[in-house]
Amino acid sequence: MTDAQARLLLGAPVAAEIRASVRDDIAAFVARRGYAPTLAIVLVGRDAPSAVYLRQILKACEMAGIGGRLVEIESGGTSRTDPDLEARVTAAIEALNDDPFVAGIIVQMPLPPSVRLRTIIDTIDPAKDIDGIHPLNAGLLRLGYEGFLPATAHAAIEMLHRYDVPIAGREAVVVGRSNVVGMPAAFMLVREHATVTVCHSKTVDLAAHVRRAEILVVAAGRPGLITGSMLRPGAVVVDVGINVVGDAIVGDVDMDSARSVAGAITPVPGGVGPVTNAILLTHLVRAAVAQADGAPA
Ligand code: NAP
Repeated sequence: MTDAQARLLLGAPVAAEIRASVRDDIAAFVARRGYAPTLAIVLVGRDAPSAVYLRQILKACEMAGIGGRLVEIESGGTSRTDPDLEARVTAAIEALNDDPFVAGIIVQMPLPPSVRLRTIIDTIDPAKDIDGIHPLNAGLLRLGYEGFLPATAHAAIEMLHRYDVPIAGREAVVVGRSNVVGMPAAFMLVREHATVTVCHSKTVDLAAHVRRAEILVVAAGRPGLITGSMLRPGAVVVDVGINVVGDAIVGDVDMDSARSVAGAITPVPGGVGPVTNAILLTHLVRAAVAQADGAPA
């Protein structure tokens, strides 16, 4: 390893800044409207990792002055033993759609196999879809209109903004093409005039593509997929991956080898992760104001 080490782009100060502005916005909302908007989380079945993540969101809501509501829908077993689970989930979402105090709805993924993802996504009111999973919001992003962006992808790009990384005209590579991270991040980068390559599991010679990147966003869910030898010297690397390896949480980028080649890199943990929840709250504020004003978000 050489002496030169990539600058660490930390999520905590960015998240703190965003959360402070959300707190101000919510205080102004409450002063003007007389109530605090609520963020509702739908959790289907019991899932320990989700429970940790959900507690973090609910805590963030509480600290920002936002109402947090967890709607737990117990699963009675498999699709055969619990055939009406999907109907109960859609009914719960419809009730939240109709509740004027609920400004935003997120549904914890993954869903049990008996619940069709598409049915659930379609049920969420797009005006309350603060994690940008409804086809309307995905379409708005694709067409370059304002909609709700998926919070993780938004957080990844927000890290570039907050750390003054220029995007226009630069060579960007996104590893991963999921609807929640890779593709929306790629569309955001195109929208900001980067030249974007999207890589995925069928990409031939991933290293050759990655080596061109001045900006690299990695969201593959594969620990250590990207190593220092694959990077262009000075690249800005945003590691979205969250992988549990033994007792540790690691990203998709091998930090040890990447740090001596990259110009800047988001650590895992402590990079994009903390910013995601803060960004989600900004979406909630926007949804709440738009709904209270009767305007599209
Ligand atoms: P996903 O739906 O599993 O998508 C993974 C993507 O990576 C797919 O497009 C897949 O390609 C691609 N991929 C897998 N192996 C690859 C390989 N060897 N080479 C190149 N591409 C490969 O995952 P996701 O929901 O987008 O999440 C990605 C990562 O972000 C995960 O680690 C997840 O835990 C993390 N995450 C972080 C946050 C946060 O707040 N920071 C939030 C959500 C998710 P194919 O399309 O060909 O299968």
